[in-house]
Amino acid sequence: MSKADADALVLGSGPGGLAMVAALALEGLDVMALTLGDPLEPWPFTYGIWGEEVDSLGLDQLLAHRWSNTASYFGAGSLDPESPANRSTPHDRDYGLFDKVKLQQHLFQQGQAAGVQWHRGLATELSVDAACTTVTTADGTKLRARLVVDATGYEPVFLKQFKQGPLAIQTCYGVVGRFSGPPVESGQFVLMDYRCDHLSEVEQRDPPTFLYAMDLGGGRFFLEETSLGLAPPMSLDLLRSRLERRLAHRGLSIIELEHEEFGPFLPMNLPLPDLKQPVLGFGGAASMVHPATGYLIGGLLRRAPAVAKALRGAMADPAASSQTLAAVGWAALWPAELLRKQALYQFGLEKLIRFPDPQLRDFFTSFFALPNSQWYGFLTNTLTLQELVAAMWRMFVSAPWSVRWGLMGMQGRELKLLWRFLSAKD
Ligand SMILES: Cc1cc2nc3c(=O)[nH]c(=O)nc-3n(C[C@H](O)[C@H](O)[C@H](O)COP(=O)(O)OP(=O)(O)OC[C@H]3O[C@@H](n4cnc5c(N)ncnc54)[C@H](O)[C@@H]3O)c2cc1C
Repeated sequence: MSKADADALVLGSGPGGLAMVAALALEGLDVMALTLGDPLEPWPFTYGIWGEEVDSLGLDQLLAHRWSNTASYFGAGSLDPESPANRSTPHDRDYGLFDKVKLQQHLFQQGQAAGVQWHRGLATELSVDAACTTVTTADGTKLRARLVVDATGYEPVFLKQFKQGPLAIQTCYGVVGRFSGPPVESGQFVLMDYRCDHLSEVEQRDPPTFLYAMDLGGGRFFLEETSLGLAPPMSLDLLRSRLERRLAHRGLSIIELEHEEFGPFLPMNLPLPDLKQPVLGFGGAASMVHPATGYLIGGLLRRAPAVAKALRGAMADPAASSQTLAAVGWAALWPAELLRKQALYQFGLEKLIRFPDPQLRDFFTSFFALPNSQWYGFLTNTLTLQELVAAMWRMFVSAPWSVRWGLMGMQGRELKLLWRFLSAKD
């Protein structure tokens, strides 16, 4: 029987992997980590987060930008700036963008300070025995730990997930640059601009997309045309052409293109992993992405310490097997209340991705008319189950009938998701 070289081996150095490495190391556990390249290789995407969320994590010093002028647009749009179709919905709360290099280094340093050993390589094989779990890399290196945490992203190398049918995929195409005029108000962050007057009537019947946009200061803006979630996903070419047309319709063009972001396909309604497997998951691999927003970063920074604490307790028993340790980790990561909330969110997403453009805009108008703390708690997954149900009910009764009918009619796997919510055990 093999002997473990460390308490935990974390696979992956994305936000999920680094957050878990840091949390385990801060608990005083002996941690190894394995990733494909340099763990400080810059992450490819930009990560946004609500101000209150980052403040409650005590990480606001890691933001590159913070906006107080935050808004969305849910009218149909018009070239007349005074038209009600151009009215904005103010969000009255701050939003921030991480300085991703600072965030990455912050998490990495927490691990380094506790002596985490990093290895490079492609994990290819896994074997679990009574004493430990062994991961073998493509070059034949064997790494042994009492518990393996798979944080290798949306297509995890070892984790098994339940099958649940087609995935709703979020896609986006973004640009950072300078424009012939300001594409959003000076100093503004726009969460969702669903105005669609740049599209023909026929195109407006196609699946809707929205603009996510921000003023980066110094004449630079970041604009991203996004499809919330579709199966099959919307193509990046279509998103790019919609962004170009949105700009052209308002007489704007790009005069200096600094960076193009071809968002990869982000699955919004990932099925839950099998919580009985002897390997723990974290991040995208463990289906932690918020099904209504595609966001992950706040949730994983909040949830990593609780999982690490539970694991430290379980590791105090030197006889605890990988299977036992993983069970403790899964229970801390996905307690019954979070499982139920996840089923509700997935049920909600299933509805949203079927809504045509006008219904979707009415839906969001009603959603953001909820009390500020309710919609914020919904989007950040910080409400209790009871509060979440109350928010959804309030939204339902205050929405126009077009939205209520859409929410009531059951299609596809919606009944199954509702049953999963009702039947999750406490
Ligand atoms: C365009 C875009 C924008 C986003 N914006 C936001 C946002 O604003 N806010 C937010 O909260 N979330 C956002 N997200 C969602 C989410 O934060 C990211 O998808 C996040 O990168 C997922 O983190 P992860 O660590 O789970 O996986 P990943 O970042 O995919 O990391 C996986 C890691 O595993 C390693 N790896 C993979 N296979 C192996 C293997 N076999 N052996 C060893 N190592 C391996 C990889 O090298 C990598 O280091 C966004 C996502 C996208 C796509």
